[in-house]
Amino acid sequence: MTDRSTPPLRAVRIEAKCPICGKTGTAQYRPFCSKRCADVDLGRWLKEGYRVPAEEAPDGEEPPDPPPGSSRQPG
Ligand SMILES: [Zn+2]
Repeated sequence: MTDRSTPPLRAVRIEAKCPICGKTGTAQYRPFCSKRCADVDLGRWLKEGYRVPAEEAPDGEEPPDPPPGSSRQPG
């Protein structure tokens, strides 16, 4: 007996992983897995929003660590 009916490999399903814990998100709290994780993310987001940019980098000062990938030769 050979079952030729194979299930579709590409199923139309949106799988979103919870950015907080990495579990598979649920449709109710997607992309989070639960309300708790959603709250955690929301809290983080709010924190970022509340934070005001008080310290501004002065002009003429270069950052201590250059971004990776920038291999420029002097001269
Ligand atoms: Zn989660």
